[in-house]
Amino acid sequence: MQGEGRRLKACLSKEDGLGLEGALSERTSKTLVKRRKIGHHGPTLKASQESRLQNTVKMNGSKDLPEPYDYDLIIIGGGSGGLAAAKEAAKYDKKVMVLDFVTPTPLGTRWGLGGTCVNVGCIPKKLMHQAALLGQALRDSRNYGWNVEETVKHDWERMTEAVQNHIGSLNWGYRVALREKRVTYENSYGEFVGPHRIKATNNKGKEKIYSAERFLIATGERPRYLGIPGDKEYCISSDDLFSLPYCPGKTLVVGASYVALECAGFLAGIGLDVTVMVRSILLRGFDQDMANKIGEHMQEHGIKFIRQFVPIKVEQIEAGTPGRLRVVAKSTNGDQTIEGEYNTVLLAIGRDACTRKIGLENVGVKINEKTGKIPVTEEEQTNVPYIYAIGDILEGKLELTPVAIQAGRLLAQRLYGGSTVKCDYENVPTTVFTPLEYGSCGLSEEKAVEKFGEENVEVYHSYFWPLEWTIPSRDNNKCYAKVVCNIKDNVFTTLSVTKRSGGNILQTGC
Ligand code: FAD
Ligand code: NAP
Repeated sequence: MQGEGRRLKACLSKEDGLGLEGALSERTSKTLVKRRKIGHHGPTLKASQESRLQNTVKMNGSKDLPEPYDYDLIIIGGGSGGLAAAKEAAKYDKKVMVLDFVTPTPLGTRWGLGGTCVNVGCIPKKLMHQAALLGQALRDSRNYGWNVEETVKHDWERMTEAVQNHIGSLNWGYRVALREKRVTYENSYGEFVGPHRIKATNNKGKEKIYSAERFLIATGERPRYLGIPGDKEYCISSDDLFSLPYCPGKTLVVGASYVALECAGFLAGIGLDVTVMVRSILLRGFDQDMANKIGEHMQEHGIKFIRQFVPIKVEQIEAGTPGRLRVVAKSTNGDQTIEGEYNTVLLAIGRDACTRKIGLENVGVKINEKTGKIPVTEEEQTNVPYIYAIGDILEGKLELTPVAIQAGRLLAQRLYGGSTVKCDYENVPTTVFTPLEYGSCGLSEEKAVEKFGEENVEVYHSYFWPLEWTIPSRDNNKCYAKVVCNIKDNVFTTLSVTKRSGGNILQTGC
């Protein structure tokens, strides 16, 4: 049978290929399409149901069809999701390529392999948050008997250099890991140019074309700008902050979500004068009770908030490192305008998916035109069956590193390891690293009430005082826990006071 298959395969031409392959599959138990063995009846039927077969057959008639493919899988984007998928796919002896390219920020900041989390996200953010916590610990330490000199100063350049050195070692580690796993890595920008084909352009403008049986888009997001005079010229984003070569000084943070509040928190924690400009509410989408407690705590620790205002103009008063900037802002409730002077303006007003300049129109992958996000099936498949997508670019999914990693790994296991396990995007825990850290999982109180009705929701809550904070006598009754329960479920909790009862929740002892 194999001999017959080989002879028939040798006869195939582009014109008669389809007919012969049809005849071949009728006469043999194997299906050969585009010189590739699809398998016997079962896998062929599955490929047909998933539209893979039709697509491959259609491709077979196209003039520019690359045969055979250069790679089993090409991944566009070497961040949390892309690298996880690449390493996992390589475990199944697949030929895998990763294209990763960082387009510099408007101010020219760029970085190495590993994506947002490693270079300009979780890692530097957590390390700088730690720098701020250490400042607090230094102050606390006096109460624990340490004789700390009165003049304790923070050195921004030293912290940034140490953080960037650590990131450099992680970038290197990723390159080594890819090499060890025989994943081809190219520091090039990927853009689809036709079915199963991608153009890779390096930073010198040199172009190469590669083909693959499957593609995975994991291009992540980049910070959004306000679109007002002076924003790209004079403001920075989180992409610039973590490697800023000078201390930002008096800083205005625009935005009120994760990135904004976390950055405002650690900048204030290392002793800077920080103001947050809030368009509407803090931490949209999170439990607002918790969000407001975080805001109150930040305010008590010296961070200023300007609420219901948005910047309309940023002007340079004086160049320098840092220079001086004038910000004009307008009320969201009326015509009132205000002005303020800052050394640095950090924009943290959200992030846009990197999907509009990667040639998706050339292969027919649909995006949500408004948000740029890619809708996918439960198996992370786009509307083009051989193209998958994971991570921050997905429509309606959480933008978190562990989520991107899990989705990437599970996808590779399904594609190549025979697994059927899908990524579960529900009830993912998350932490906001504001000075008062906030961890959450599941529904906010508002969402629970919306879903189950107020009469069916019981909220157990309590203030508490971490033991470590008792000796320095700080922030008593600021830490707060709540468990939001559906009364119809069985409740398992050590908290005993319900919010409905109005009972006392201040902690008086253990
Ligand atoms: P990314 O990690 O962004 O990787 C995408 C990669 O693709 C990038 O390297 C990009 O340069 C590259 N690329 C884009 N287009 C192309 C192209 N055409 N060709 C080649 N390469 C391309 N998450 C957490 O879980 N915990 C945290 O504490 C946390 N903190 C964060 C703090 C900040 C300041 C920010 C901004 C984000 C934070 N996140 C955090 C979110 C987390 O970083 C992202 O969810 C995660 O990085 C998404 O992974 P990804 O693979 O989708 O994309
Ligand atoms: P985001 O969640 O989209 O929030 C954007 C913020 O900017 C909101 O407060 C929004 O206000 C405000 N804003 C938007 N447009 C504005 C404008 N024109 N003028 C003034 N304010 C404006 O964005 P993000 O904070 O950049 O976070 C992006 C994603 O990264 C998050 O979804 C998160 O998953 C991930 N992340 C995770 C962590 C973590 O796990 N700890 C940390 C950082 C980031 P409104 O509420 O009024 O819209």
